[in-house]
Amino acid sequence: MCERDTRPDTASEIHVYDPSWLSGAQCMGDACVVCHVKWPRPRRVLGELPDGSHVYGCDECAGIIGHQPVSAGGSLIAAR
Ligand SMILES: [Zn+2]
Repeated sequence: MCERDTRPDTASEIHVYDPSWLSGAQCMGDACVVCHVKWPRPRRVLGELPDGSHVYGCDECAGIIGHQPVSAGGSLIAAR
């Protein structure tokens, strides 16, 4: 009966987007949720929908939001 708040309140804040103000492409992960760009295909998970499916954004917008640390130089090859 008593419905507890069981949402995992972890440090990583997942932004939940309201699908009513996203386009179909954005809901499907085909377009960036911020700038609507479809190409290059957004690969960064910027948040999720209330049903738990992920929404994506391009690298630039992910950097603007600050969801993940993005090095402006794009030096992802520093894996030593
Ligand atoms: Zn974008």
